[in-house]
Amino acid sequence: MGEAEPRRFAFVVREDVTRMLTQKRAAELAALQPLLEEQYQIHTERLAAWTAQASSGQDMDPATTAALMATCRKTLADLASALRHLAEGRYGDCECCGQPIPVERLQILPQARRCVPCQQRP
Ligand SMILES: [Zn+2]
Repeated sequence: MGEAEPRRFAFVVREDVTRMLTQKRAAELAALQPLLEEQYQIHTERLAAWTAQASSGQDMDPATTAALMATCRKTLADLASALRHLAEGRYGDCECCGQPIPVERLQILPQARRCVPCQQRP
């Protein structure tokens, strides 16, 4: 009887800590929404500018413009996906291993789809 009590207490504390950490991460991830939206806006404007340049007939380097536009479209797709995942409550999980991507990485690259180890895997 006297032994069961501390064990149950420990379980309750552990669950509480887990919930606190989950809430902390959720708040940190939610705080990245303005950054994601800002980046989406910036890349949309950038893509529009390059599209205008490409169709102006005065593009000195069409191959480079095309490459920049392709990268920009990819980033926009990643940003849209991140915003969708944020709304669905599954933003920040590595699409490769399923582990949470550290917030420090997402603060630098908010549209990151993978954690660093998975990203570096060939
Ligand atoms: Zn991973």
